[in-house]
Amino acid sequence: MKNKSTNTWVLAEVIRGNLSPVALELLFIAKKLAKETGDKVCAVLMTNDKKDFAQKLICHGADIVYVAEDKCLANFDEDIYSQLLTDMIKAHTPNIFVLPATSTGRSLSAKTAILADTGLTADATDLQIDKETKLLHATRPTFGGNLMATIMCEVKRPQMCSLRPLTYPQTECDKKRKGEIVNFKVDAKKYKSNVKFVSFKELEDNEIDICASEIIVAGGRGVKDEKGFALLKQLADSIGGTVAASRAAVDNGLMPYRCQVGLTGKTIKPKLYIACGISGQVQHMAGMSSSDVIVAINKDAEAPIMAQAKYALVGDVFEVIPQLISQLKSK
Ligand SMILES: Cc1cc2nc3c(=O)[nH]c(=O)nc-3n(C[C@H](O)[C@H](O)[C@H](O)COP(=O)(O)OP(=O)(O)OC[C@H]3O[C@@H](n4cnc5c(N)ncnc54)[C@H](O)[C@@H]3O)c2cc1C
Repeated sequence: MKNKSTNTWVLAEVIRGNLSPVALELLFIAKKLAKETGDKVCAVLMTNDKKDFAQKLICHGADIVYVAEDKCLANFDEDIYSQLLTDMIKAHTPNIFVLPATSTGRSLSAKTAILADTGLTADATDLQIDKETKLLHATRPTFGGNLMATIMCEVKRPQMCSLRPLTYPQTECDKKRKGEIVNFKVDAKKYKSNVKFVSFKELEDNEIDICASEIIVAGGRGVKDEKGFALLKQLADSIGGTVAASRAAVDNGLMPYRCQVGLTGKTIKPKLYIACGISGQVQHMAGMSSSDVIVAINKDAEAPIMAQAKYALVGDVFEVIPQLISQLKSK
C-alpha cells in the first residue's frame, strides 16, 4: 500500500564476510533518486558479522543503516533472508527499495516482493524519478533486448527493483559523514526454511569472475572451436586479461555460462574489451557497451560491433590474434 515513507533503501549485500562493492553503486543511484524525492538514503545489512560495514556505508552516503545481525544469516538462505527482509520492510515502510541484480539479489528481491505484497522491476538498467508524480521509473530491456520498457509501481509500496551491477559508479568515501545505525532484532526461531546449506565452493584460480577483470578478451561464433579459444586465452594471458564469450559461443559449449556477456549473461565494465569474432547484436552489447575501450576484430567491416568499437580491426581472428601476440611478446 502507498505510505508516507520518505526512505529510499538499498540492500548492502555481504558475500562470504565481505561487503559487496555493488552496495556502493546502489548508494550512488539512491542518492541521485533521493535528490528528486527528498527521501533519506538508507542501507540494509543482513549478516552474521557486521564488522565496520555500517560505518563504511555511512561514509559512502547512507543516512541510516538498518542492521540485522544473527548467526542464522551466516550463509545466504533465500527463505530466511526474504522473511526477515519483509519484516524489516513492514516495520520501516520504505518508499523505494533497490536491490542488486546479482544471483542472490535476483532471487531475494523476487521472493521478498511477493511476501511484502508489492511489485518488482527485475534487472533494471536505469532508474529515474518522475518530476511530477515522484514515482520511480525503472527501465529494463524487454522483448529480447529489442525494446526498453519503463515500469512504474503506482499503488503498492515499496517500489522495488533489482538493478544490474556496474550500471552506476560507486560513491566516494567521506570519513567525516555522520549517520544513524538502527539495529533490527532478528527473531531467528520465527523464520522457516526449506533450504539446507551443504557447502560453499570457491571459484578455482582458473575460474576468475569476468566482472572483476579489467581486461576482457571475448570470443564469439567467429572463434569457431576450442583451438580458437585457446588462442584467445594466449592473448588474454599476455595482457593480464580474462576470456569471456558471446551466447553463441556458450551455446556451442566452448565456454561456461558464467563467462557469458550480455542480456542473459553478465554485465561488465572492463577498461579494455577485445571482441573477437562477435557480431555485436543488441543482446550482447547490453552486457559490455559501457566498457572504457572496445576493440573489435571481425572479418566483416559492417558487423554492428565495428561501429561501437574505438579500434575496429578488419581481419580473420586466426591471423590477427597471432600477430598481436607476437608483437606483444616482442615488447
Ligand atoms: C532473449 C535473448 C537474450 C540473449 N542474450 C544474449 C547474451 O546475453 N549474450 C549474447 O552474446 N547474446 C545473447 N543473445 C543472442 C544474440 O542475439 C546473438 O545471437 C549472439 O550475441 C551472437 O553471437 P556472436 O556475435 O558470437 O555470433 P554471430 O552473430 O554469428 O557473429 C559471428 C561474427 O563473427 C565474425 N566472424 C566469423 N568468422 C570470423 C573470423 N574467422 N575472424 C573474424 N571474424 C569472424 C562474423 O563476421 C560475425 O560478425 C540473446 C538473444 C535473445 C533473443
